[in-house]
Amino acid sequence: MTERIVILGAGQAGAQLADSLRREGCEAEIALVGEEEVTPYQRPPLSKTYLMDSFDEARLPLRPDAFYADRKIDLHLGCRADSIDRTGRTVALSDGQVLPYDTLVIATGTRVRMPPIPGIDGDRVYPLRSIADSRAIKAALAGASHVVVIGGGFIGLETASAACTMGKSVTVIEAMDRLMKRAVSAPVSAFFHDLHAEKGVDIVYDARVAGINPQGRSSEVELDDGRVFVADLVIVGAGVMPNQEIAAEAGLICSNGIDVDDYAATSDPDIYAIGDVSFHPNALTGRRLRLESVQNATDQARALAKTLTGTPTPYTAVPWFWSDQYDIKLQMAGLAEGFDTHVVRGDPGARSFSVFYFKDGCLIAADSINAPADHMAARRILGQAKPALTPEEAGDPAFDLKTRM
Ligand code: FAD
Repeated sequence: MTERIVILGAGQAGAQLADSLRREGCEAEIALVGEEEVTPYQRPPLSKTYLMDSFDEARLPLRPDAFYADRKIDLHLGCRADSIDRTGRTVALSDGQVLPYDTLVIATGTRVRMPPIPGIDGDRVYPLRSIADSRAIKAALAGASHVVVIGGGFIGLETASAACTMGKSVTVIEAMDRLMKRAVSAPVSAFFHDLHAEKGVDIVYDARVAGINPQGRSSEVELDDGRVFVADLVIVGAGVMPNQEIAAEAGLICSNGIDVDDYAATSDPDIYAIGDVSFHPNALTGRRLRLESVQNATDQARALAKTLTGTPTPYTAVPWFWSDQYDIKLQMAGLAEGFDTHVVRGDPGARSFSVFYFKDGCLIAADSINAPADHMAARRILGQAKPALTPEEAGDPAFDLKTRM
């Protein structure tokens, strides 16, 4: 019987797991270990509303402080897990404590990937992952006029939209030929290009940053073709990498994250991994993947809580994600990987439309722009064993998607 559960990483997945374990009636000792000093909090606002003056910081914690004490969840904050002894079944913490476990869960998330650019470790260059990062960016933005964002993915574009809304001049430097290319199709990229361009954001494509050079009170971001952009601050949004070292050093199988099965179990049956750090099987794509989303972190944690309390529950949820840029909400359901047909529903000109993606005639994903009803319908339809929606139906705005739910 599991008497001691230790969770490494007090972020979205770790906090959800501790909560869900108690909801499922788990009576084991639960320790939640987090490197950051603060009560577990939500990250999505950090690249969005938090950067603007109006955001109330009290809204960030996922649960109130008292929640953990009330449920006898032993919080170890400001404390890093340094190593795992799988034979003795203990974890060594940075404050010198050694925690014994019967079940260990690794939920250590990801960290910002800092491209190997000369000068990227300079004073005016900011990664964005934590509340500390976001506070530093917010402070720097206050006195800035020119902002350069490296990376035209979700985080880069959200910070660009916040900075632009605050009246800054913003340049986004993107290595690929369109925005958010890893995640969305060309029509969606084109819509967001037009949106940012209309607001005055300068987007530079196919660009390689060769160096970031301090020049007095600002920096010069230099591309390998010689172009130079002056910045009071540089925000790096060039992707993330999984915090898997503690697992790899303990001999667990890791590739792009910690390899787990459908039940979040690693190659050691007493150790599980969830959230951004888990490299898990995905039925929609037929391969393992790592997802970086609130949905993935919470749903994987909820499924694992059931498994650990005696109801083995595979993680099969339909992935979904959102991004806010200006007054536009992008909502994504499913994974568009390998689609052979896509249809647009609604009118991009009216700033409310969806793109539905099909593979071999079967719906696999949908991206919705200011179209929440389409998004909710797509999620429900994708949850079916064999979604019945056809491309013709999806593309016909008069067709009621609810009839396929
Ligand atoms: P995290 O929440 O990152 O938590 C991991 C925790 O583990 C961290 O606190 C870390 O410090 C700690 N840790 C790491 N190593 C150790 C160690 N050795 N010992 C102890 N603690 C350790 N998702 C969406 O769906 N929609 C959005 O709009 C969205 N916006 C985002 C905006 C920003 C700025 C960021 C950074 C992320 C955003 N995400 C969004 C992604 C979402 O927040 C993550 O997918 C989610 O937080 C993952 O949860 P997690 O618990 O796996 O990792």
